Amino acid sequence: MTRTWKEIPLFEGVTDEEWDDWHWQLRNRLSTAEDFDKLLNMTDQQRADLERCMGKFRMAVTPYYASLMDPDDPKCPVRMQGVPSPLELVVHGEDMEDAIAETIDSPTPNITHRYPDRVLFVVTEMCSMYCRHCTRRRIVGGHESMVSQKVIADAITYIERNKEVRDVLISGGDPLVLSDEQLEEILARVRAIDHVEIMRIGSRMPVVCPQRITPELVAMLKKYHPLYLNTHFNHPKEITPDSTRACAMLADAGINLGNQSVLLRGINDCANVMRKLVHGLLRIRVKPYYLYQCDLAMGTNHFRTSVAKGIEIYESLRGHTTGFAVPMYIIDAVGGGGKTPVMPNYLISMSQHQVVLRNYEGVISKYKEPDDYVEDECQCEDCTAGRVRKGVAGLFDVVGPTLEDVWAARMQKIVDRKSIMADIQGPVEQ
Ligand SMILES: *Cc1c(COP(=O)(O)O)cnc(C)c1O
Repeated sequence: MTRTWKEIPLFEGVTDEEWDDWHWQLRNRLSTAEDFDKLLNMTDQQRADLERCMGKFRMAVTPYYASLMDPDDPKCPVRMQGVPSPLELVVHGEDMEDAIAETIDSPTPNITHRYPDRVLFVVTEMCSMYCRHCTRRRIVGGHESMVSQKVIADAITYIERNKEVRDVLISGGDPLVLSDEQLEEILARVRAIDHVEIMRIGSRMPVVCPQRITPELVAMLKKYHPLYLNTHFNHPKEITPDSTRACAMLADAGINLGNQSVLLRGINDCANVMRKLVHGLLRIRVKPYYLYQCDLAMGTNHFRTSVAKGIEIYESLRGHTTGFAVPMYIIDAVGGGGKTPVMPNYLISMSQHQVVLRNYEGVISKYKEPDDYVEDECQCEDCTAGRVRKGVAGLFDVVGPTLEDVWAARMQKIVDRKSIMADIQGPVEQ
């Protein structure tokens, strides 16, 4: 059953102005079992289950996103992402507090510097809604107060001091819960750093609170190009006239939009649903960027699928539809291993000077390589200056021949990055 918000008794008396005001949306989030009792037609059992879940992980849903929920269907994909299930209370052996170990690579609070040339900068721990599958649920929503000015200032100092950083990913929480002024202050300070080439915002607001995307916001954002924004649609049902308008406004301001979905059991673990989602995203000018395997975050076991399901979905898209509709399928490796792409095997055999491939339809072909390929010495600026960029095998040449050497080099990087802030945060922790 679908209904417009005006048909929902819970929102009786709400005016259009209120509904369209993102502050109203945030102030009136549904956050108690009683709120959902008024919105949804729950059985006694469902109500009791919901009450049991309260207090374990933060819960809140904007009235807008709540209005997309099917009141009669507990398996509604929007409902499953917003309403806690008692399965969240079940902890499995593999569940972890910080599944992707973001704190290991943190040279200063709220910065994760995991990859060589870019950092993740958490500017708030608050979201407009709390996804039940959140990977960062250890911190997100833990306290809804602002991140302190000192933490923000130190993070910016780190970016200033580390000239390797050319890409800053502003995330949270959801950075768009900040006011335009607060966000602009951060964007302006990061943009002022010479070596920062691009900025990206990670926000689910276009999906869960499209009212946040106002003419004033986009006018502010477009001053800070090149600026990219990645959002988080998981199901075609989330593509509504409102989310479509929000994306159009951002795209019209020249902000490239990407989407990061999470593969979720019962929500989008179906090749047809995913195909409908990626096609819908391209129609609203959003490029499917990543499809994540669900992380091992606490209480999310019931959302996880097999990896085989992800491979099957990828295979059902690649070749069958527009190439740039196909997101890269990623497992974020535990312990801070980082994003690892996972793919079906298209390269099925190799011998000297030839490879055997299979295409999306299973057709096998041979590609004959040149017999005499050797790379000419490259004359580009970086190569002549001796800057080596090679694959994993080449990396071993640089750091040493064993796994221990690679590990030691990684640990050294962490210490070096922490030492950048030594004068601010005291002695470097080993
Ligand atoms: C995801 C992520 C990034 C960005 O990764 P891309 O593959 O460049 O999109 C950067 N830092 C951290 C810690 C991340 O988790």
